[in-house]
Amino acid sequence: MTDIRINLHSDTQTQPTPAMKEAMMAAELGDEQSLNDPTANALQEKVAALLGKEAALLMPSGTMCNVAAIAVHCKTGDEILCDKTSHIVNAEAGGIGMLGAMVRPIDGDNGIYTADQLEAAVRPARRHAPNSKLVEVEQTSNAGGGTVWPLKTIQGVTKVAKEHGLILHMDGARLLNAVVASGVDAKTYAEPFDSLWIDLSKGLGCPIGGVLAGSKDFIEQAWQWKQRLGGAMRQSGIIAAAGLYALDHHIDRIAQDHANARLFAEKVANLPGISVDLETVQTNMIFFDVSGAGITAQQMEKGLAEQGVKISAVSNARLRAVTHLDVTSSDAEEAADAVRAVLEQTPKSDISQIATTEQVL
Ligand SMILES: *Cc1c(COP(=O)(O)O)cnc(C)c1O
Repeated sequence: MTDIRINLHSDTQTQPTPAMKEAMMAAELGDEQSLNDPTANALQEKVAALLGKEAALLMPSGTMCNVAAIAVHCKTGDEILCDKTSHIVNAEAGGIGMLGAMVRPIDGDNGIYTADQLEAAVRPARRHAPNSKLVEVEQTSNAGGGTVWPLKTIQGVTKVAKEHGLILHMDGARLLNAVVASGVDAKTYAEPFDSLWIDLSKGLGCPIGGVLAGSKDFIEQAWQWKQRLGGAMRQSGIIAAAGLYALDHHIDRIAQDHANARLFAEKVANLPGISVDLETVQTNMIFFDVSGAGITAQQMEKGLAEQGVKISAVSNARLRAVTHLDVTSSDAEEAADAVRAVLEQTPKSDISQIATTEQVL
């Protein structure tokens, strides 16, 4: 098998840079569980300030940020209102189910639902029904295409939620991509939310971690869940140092990932039989449909891998490409050329009606 030269599978595929590794090597460390790791403490303070919240907590992963936050907010029979494509519903191994919470999926547009759709989904209080409890927003929407929730939509949705006394949680795995794409600062997006988190291991280019933020009281409770879930660490400053480095050096450069995604999307959109909704290419993701070219997404994935390009199928018809720190603009162009080459080399067949359930990667 050819070595992968250009890896567009996900923005989780980055290697820590030499400068990031140096920052990790130099980090002052202690025991985070006694609140004595100065580097972990510094990262938590920095993220709390960035998001305008009282406190923050380093977690081993974004998934643990979501499950701990939802565990604090919800009990058995409580219902979470969120988009049907959301990561918490499709890609976190059913963790919500472990908590006894229910999900009310909303049929949004590219991962983004409206205030009216939320209003219609809230249940009137009734002994027989689940309790509407938590509203979740995923910024950016991963399965929606890396789409950015406009501030106005967030303001509309959060207003409805507050009128109904609902709690607000943001899965901000790629909040900083939204910040860079829109020019709206993180604090402004975060303001209406009771809890939210950012991922260190996506666009920021760190090897590990997520940071959850909220009120002091919320973080105190999240700490207990972190302990309970086995997420409490020791000298976690070694991870936190990468996060601190990335917050200082890797936010502005995300604009380059977005430009590279656009470059790839526009080249691929011009190829015969390929369809890309360019409107949804707002950040670092490109979903493209190859069924019109008479090949399956799996054939495309395999053909690309043979050329040293990794892009993963999400269904029989569509693939997802994601740009990041380790992808240059010439890589993006080369990857698009590889898509063209696969189209030219692969025998066509009739593959209408093949669309299968999409995986959320
Ligand atoms: C990646 C991702 C997560 C989970 O984060 P991990 O750090 O991989 O556990 C949650 N939500 C969204 C939208 C994601 O893309």
